[in-house]
Amino acid sequence: MKKTILILGGAGYIGSHSAYLLYKRGYEVLIIDKLIHGQNFDHKWATVIKADFADEKVLNQIFDKYKIDAVMHFAAFIEVGISVKKPANFYENNVIKTINFLDFMLSRGVKKFIFSSSCAIYGNPIKVPMNEKHPFDPISPYGKNKLVIEFVLQDYAKAYDLKYVSLRYFNAAGADPENNLGEQHNPETHIIPLMLRAIKNNKTFKIFGTDYNTPDGTCVRDYIHVLDLALAHILGLEYLNSGGKSDYFNLGTGKGYSVKEMINMAQNVVGKKMNIQVCERRLGDVDTLIADNKKIKAILGWIPKYSDLNNILNTAFLWENINYEGVGIHLDK
Ligand code: UDP
Repeated sequence: MKKTILILGGAGYIGSHSAYLLYKRGYEVLIIDKLIHGQNFDHKWATVIKADFADEKVLNQIFDKYKIDAVMHFAAFIEVGISVKKPANFYENNVIKTINFLDFMLSRGVKKFIFSSSCAIYGNPIKVPMNEKHPFDPISPYGKNKLVIEFVLQDYAKAYDLKYVSLRYFNAAGADPENNLGEQHNPETHIIPLMLRAIKNNKTFKIFGTDYNTPDGTCVRDYIHVLDLALAHILGLEYLNSGGKSDYFNLGTGKGYSVKEMINMAQNVVGKKMNIQVCERRLGDVDTLIADNKKIKAILGWIPKYSDLNNILNTAFLWENINYEGVGIHLDK
């Protein structure tokens, strides 16, 4: 019989790609999502329940009706800058609701959990690439939220036999336009869609800071294709299914690109220049984030296949063309 995986936030960017991959691997996919970005999510391969993952009435109905094998949790607020201005909302959604959900899930005998963590738990890097032993010093409430939950997971694993895999994402990027999946944040704050829209629509792209301690003064990030990221969730689940012990992993490619390098590559992909304005630094940003991914490669056998930066930008651009202009559902293959 097919195993049923419950995905909190499965209609979001990373959740939807992971959900689709689970479906392709033969799992039954059940999604709870509030659709807060107003995104279209009409895929036949998943059952979508529009609800808050903290709604206990809905959770009771779902857990009564389905035999849930494991839960993947993507339903977090993610904008680092907003977390600095509105920490209460972030603690409520990303911490309190998550702990309540874990308690509920465990009370129903579901013990496997895949968590979307973040490299934001490390704060400003002392050494790059960063491995899992890098000290924790999150500078934003968002990063602190993720770290609190990592501690909760460790304690729950000891006390309640929770089996978890926590994936510390670096920068998710790219899309799977052939399957009508991509980034649909509202408002959009991520560099790649904003750059591509700026080029396409002759708008101005704002560089947030050119005075960072990096070779060209702009921030360096490790951009990982969302399909490679999604695959890590499935490998994490299968690792737990085969008796693997609870663990946490950095999830990035090990290569970094500066904002200026990204601008050049994006201009090449679209074949057009973009208007640029240099602005102040954005709240909560750190100089450089690059993953040391040895651990996830060794233990989960994860190998990135799609994360070449040209492929990331090309797939993101294809997605922008179908999504942003609101035309078409499927590209011709
Ligand atoms: N960035 C930028 N202009 C933008 C959006 C982002 O210069 O309009 C920079 C941002 O300061 C960071 C990098 O691009 O250094 C990646 O930002 P993004 O929001 O995509 O991801 P984050 O690293 O915050 O998760």
